[in-house]
Amino acid sequence: MMDGSEDRVAASAVAMESASSEDYESDAEMPVATTFDRTLSHHHSYLGETEVLRGRTFYEDGVIVSMPLLNFEHIVVPNQIFPLTVFEDYFKDLLLHCIENDHTFGVISGRYNNFTKNSPLMGTTVEIYEYNYGNNSDNFIVKTKGRQRFKLIETVTFSSSFQVAKVEILPEVKLPDFFSEIKSHSLNRYRKSRPQRCKKREAALTPWPNWVYDQYDAKILVTKIKDALYSGHKGLSVSIPDDPSELSFWMAQYLAINDEQKLQILRTNNPIERLRLEYNILLKSRFMCCSTCKNKIGMQSDMFSMSVDGPQGTFCNPNGYVHDVLTFYQVKGLHYGTHPPSLEFSWFPEYAWTVAYCDSCMNHLGWKFTATKDQLVPKTFWGIRRKGLVAQIDCNHEYNEGLLSMLE
Ligand SMILES: [Zn+2]
Repeated sequence: MMDGSEDRVAASAVAMESASSEDYESDAEMPVATTFDRTLSHHHSYLGETEVLRGRTFYEDGVIVSMPLLNFEHIVVPNQIFPLTVFEDYFKDLLLHCIENDHTFGVISGRYNNFTKNSPLMGTTVEIYEYNYGNNSDNFIVKTKGRQRFKLIETVTFSSSFQVAKVEILPEVKLPDFFSEIKSHSLNRYRKSRPQRCKKREAALTPWPNWVYDQYDAKILVTKIKDALYSGHKGLSVSIPDDPSELSFWMAQYLAINDEQKLQILRTNNPIERLRLEYNILLKSRFMCCSTCKNKIGMQSDMFSMSVDGPQGTFCNPNGYVHDVLTFYQVKGLHYGTHPPSLEFSWFPEYAWTVAYCDSCMNHLGWKFTATKDQLVPKTFWGIRRKGLVAQIDCNHEYNEGLLSMLE
């Protein structure tokens, strides 16, 4: 895959294809039934053959452990899969050390953290599950997955090449049963068949109405979020996690939120709090705009799944650049480089990529993917870099009009 930076000069120097900034580039229908094998992008098949590492490392809540530390440009959340192509010696040493031990290292994004006593650095443990030294010894390929959140305690040593840190594994806090002190035994036989009615009865015995408790009910929140996703975002076509923690991290990748919001989610120990924040963002119909000039690119509801993980994915190119990407079935406001569509290292096999830029400011926004086989559906789609996008509320949308009028 070619990075925008490599093609930017050529693209700005010559005439380019242009898409109207007013209208969507294609009048494509939402591709509900794709014929692309969406497990290929999930498995990052473009990286070739890899060795599988068996076993999983799971740390107890609150435990303090030492592990190699990587200061990374991206904020990684638990369950996020991300591949790496590594060339630097210190990085290769770090990965080899992990492969020979418990396969785990810590990732922080120091760029977005202010490290003070009151605001410690937060990160995520990451586990290597596949690796390959590559075709030659120059590069080292690994596939990794985010596992658990942590707080950085201290950097304990510098080994000969990489950093090692002491970290505290953060808990996933679960709220206690609100009604444990006032449970009425006479309702026990109805708890399974009529849980909501029992809850209302018991809430009536407290100072707060039932709807207050509903806002902190994990099951209700998960159902609301899944209903909103499946009804308003028809291109998802993937199974969405039921577990509140897993869903909160899935949403952190799905929503085109900025790094500060992602960090806020990482800092929050309670999955219900994370889901409440994400639900509020989800409900606002949002335009995705170029992060540099605010040129409109598409709606959040224009996103669709080209991976079994959803519209979100983290990919790497042969030069080691990592991109957080969201896939859209329609976009507007893009220009294309003159480099012919290429299948080389394509994240979506049999789709050829073309580098795409904002047609207003030339910011590298992502890639257009074009099918090279007749049977492939969709014929085209776009992978847009999360860091190239910023979300803005669509004030003309029916839902947000209602919301705004309520505020007036
Ligand atoms: Zn722009």
